[in-house]
Amino acid sequence: MSPARLKTRARLSEVRYEIRGELARRARELEAQGRTLIKLNIGNPGAFGFRAPAHLQRAIAGRIADTDPYTHQQGLPAAREAIAAFHRGRGTPQASAERVFIGNGVSELIDLSLRALLNPGDEVLLPSPDYPLWSAATILNDGRPVYYRCAPEHSSSGQGFLPDPVEIEALVSPRTRAIVLINPNNPTGATYPRALLEQIVAIARRHGLLLMCDEIYDSILYDGATFEPVAPLAGDLPCLSFGGLSKVHRACGWRVGWAVLSGDPAASADFHHAMDLLGALRLCANVPGQFAIDAALHGEDTITALCAPGGRLHEARRVVVEAIKASAHLQLVAPAGALYAFPAVTGIAARGFDDHAFALELLETEDVLVVPGSSFNVPYRNHFRVTLLPQPEQLAEVFRRIERVLDRVAERATGLAAASSPEPATAAVAVA
Ligand code: PLP
Repeated sequence: MSPARLKTRARLSEVRYEIRGELARRARELEAQGRTLIKLNIGNPGAFGFRAPAHLQRAIAGRIADTDPYTHQQGLPAAREAIAAFHRGRGTPQASAERVFIGNGVSELIDLSLRALLNPGDEVLLPSPDYPLWSAATILNDGRPVYYRCAPEHSSSGQGFLPDPVEIEALVSPRTRAIVLINPNNPTGATYPRALLEQIVAIARRHGLLLMCDEIYDSILYDGATFEPVAPLAGDLPCLSFGGLSKVHRACGWRVGWAVLSGDPAASADFHHAMDLLGALRLCANVPGQFAIDAALHGEDTITALCAPGGRLHEARRVVVEAIKASAHLQLVAPAGALYAFPAVTGIAARGFDDHAFALELLETEDVLVVPGSSFNVPYRNHFRVTLLPQPEQLAEVFRRIERVLDRVAERATGLAAASSPEPATAAVAVA
């Protein structure tokens, strides 16, 4: 008798992570067949030749001999103190090492903090588009994602993809427990102005919500954009601020992230205890990378130059913005921060556009891998995401290939339109 087929957790059927999903699997098959692909699906700086700064590497190398034991479940005390001092320095005077949690990347802490917070059926307000781990972790911890729109046309001072506080508040129900903000945003690159954040903080105060602020891209900013941390605006409100080494410090593989709990300690004492317990159950985070945290937060700044004119990320963004400006089919809200662009397909090519079919065609015919916009939990299907990590000239080539595919998509859409409307076809015959 063959063994019974193993069943898995039912709610996994609700979870999508297409950044490493079906298209990425097809890309691996094509590579195995010898094709050379340009893969723009993951914000993984090390895969594009970026290196973690040398002073961070030295900080770890010098301490390898000290990395054998488990640490405290919340992380090395000195590393937590470095994180707390960084937060005090940017306007959260009550930040303390006792309320810092170090994890295996922000990813682990997103999961852990939602597990600490949610009971079955509790709701979490999430941005749409979101970074899909937030939806997945909400679902897998028995919660329900409720999306607030950050639509391309939502803007203040010309910037799009901003949330509307009125819409957010209308979504609050007696089951709502938290509001998640991703700022600077993945995938849109939007940065949220202070006045908007203040309005969202006021909503959290009125309804007793935990503010969960994913600020992992906090100093990846372009063209004068500024970043406003939420914790200083939240004051005594419970607020969890996430940061890490993966993006700003280009050390994804080290798996170092942190979450800083701020606000009135009495209000979040139970939550703190829950986080501590869940942290203790997994013993501790990877230890070596924790030794780089002090150097990262208090040593030389290595990210600003990359984002400033002449810097590699700045130039990559410029090439993408210019390519899209020149495109017959694309529109872009230029990213103000983070490592991505989230263009929209418009015009004839957008008629009946299917972002997944487009991404597959781009992969199969032009050897470029992008992520369809609908992977980020949006109801529309005319966007896709690219990373800004390749060399600028490679990005220019990517957009030449994208344009070729969109020309074909537009041609097909024109053909379909002509076929379904007899009048222009008759006219064409008459001219012929
Ligand atoms: N949050 C956002 C918004 C991200 O874009 C990512 C990774 O791309 C993460 C969290 C996860 O980061 P980490 O490598 O620290 O787990």
